[in-house]
Amino acid sequence: MPTGHRQDWPLESVGQGVHPAPRAAALCWTLEGLYLQLLTILAMPHYEGTIWRPPSEARSLILQATVGCSHNACIFCVSYRDREFRVRGAEGIASDLRSLDGRLLARVRRVFLADGNALAMSTTEMEECLDVLREHLPSLERVGVYAYAKDLRDKTVGGLRRLRGRGLGIVYLGLETGDEDLLRWCRKGVTVRETIEACKKIRQAGIPLSLTIILGLGGRERSRAHATATARALNEIDPEYVGALTLMTPPGVPIYDMVRDGRFRAMGPLEVLGELRTLVEGLDLTDCTFRTNHASNYLPLGGTLGRDKSLLLDAIDRVLMTGDTTMLRPEGLRGL
Ligand code: SF4
Repeated sequence: MPTGHRQDWPLESVGQGVHPAPRAAALCWTLEGLYLQLLTILAMPHYEGTIWRPPSEARSLILQATVGCSHNACIFCVSYRDREFRVRGAEGIASDLRSLDGRLLARVRRVFLADGNALAMSTTEMEECLDVLREHLPSLERVGVYAYAKDLRDKTVGGLRRLRGRGLGIVYLGLETGDEDLLRWCRKGVTVRETIEACKKIRQAGIPLSLTIILGLGGRERSRAHATATARALNEIDPEYVGALTLMTPPGVPIYDMVRDGRFRAMGPLEVLGELRTLVEGLDLTDCTFRTNHASNYLPLGGTLGRDKSLLLDAIDRVLMTGDTTMLRPEGLRGL
């Protein structure tokens, strides 16, 4: 799910971007950085609507292989409500690449294929896209995509291995919760079991997998069930990366109406932190980079699980035991 970052600056792939990371801002004020930024401004790829990307793709060249999300119905997401899903495919991204300056293309090491679930393309369409990227980008090291669990239904492990061989280097997928009832309630359109099986295919193909889960999604009533079931699902998948986000309910998101009408009671910062603690406590992962550094979270944390579990729990407990919310990101500074 693209509960990622809004990408205002389309090309940070050369490590010289000005948005959003402050350290990138520092880097950009080199002569080379200014030069590359100029090239970027002069020849932006064609984008339809707001572009969303995972935080870790801040320096990637972003190309819309697809537009929108093929599901587009989750009650916590409005990222692509303004556009119909369609495939632009190899032809679309080839035309974008032709519009960019060759000096810039020569330096691109990472590409993120937008929008909400580029893996909705067939394996053949994805192969064609990856071939086009390799043809135009001599320094390409990794291609990333968002995926929706249904995208994997008709894909085989063998087909995914071929995509990996052509450069598909990471798949970002929204698990959101391991609680079947909660996932149905938020209209995800897939079951937890389907999602787990989809993730296993990606893992079997040797493609690194990054999952997102949403803290606070079940509200107060389902908090414990959400945390424990999500930990169980994550343990079964055992992904390389997990990113926790915290539910946001701004106007325009369907869940906003439920909060306004009193049908959903959103959780406070300390309650969300308690939920995070239950989740982390229940995790038994082999070698997973776990982060809560997304802008929607109250307490940014990061570590490797299992190694750092007690460190993460200690950091959460320091806040929970004192109840000191000044240690948390203020509500007004949370954002996507
Ligand atoms: S699958 Fe759901 S969360 Fe992901 S982009 Fe589509 S509507 Fe948004």
